[in-house]
Amino acid sequence: MASNSKNIFKEILKKEGLRYTQQRQLVWDELKNSHDHRDAENIYMCIRNNGLNVSRATVYRTIDVLVKNRLVRKMDVGDGRNRFEPRLNDDHHDHMICQNTGDIIEFFNEELEILQEKIANDLGYTVVRHVHQLFVKPLTK
Ligand SMILES: [Zn+2]
Repeated sequence: MASNSKNIFKEILKKEGLRYTQQRQLVWDELKNSHDHRDAENIYMCIRNNGLNVSRATVYRTIDVLVKNRLVRKMDVGDGRNRFEPRLNDDHHDHMICQNTGDIIEFFNEELEILQEKIANDLGYTVVRHVHQLFVKPLTK
């Protein structure tokens, strides 16, 4: 599995006309080994904090390529800083964003998935993909 995702990454770089480098691999490793929803700057800092030398430009560029080739999901959570998460096994989930803390909570609801498809079907369509985000705040007692 690990070597497989490495090969996929190499193929994608080739397709994009980019050289495979250790630096670009570090960016992909950092993304795929985490389930966090982080912005590009945060991913960059995590790599640097591990004592690894990667330029900011390489990080941003590599993330763009990963998003374009669907290895990474880009999320606009409404604060001007896109968040990124790996989408390797393509487990579908939606997100809740807490307006107080900025926490991003994942959820999946089968009924909601079925309902969305029904709504589309009733209007003569089928759902190809969807982005479902709930902006929430903690319940107050
Ligand atoms: Zn997520």
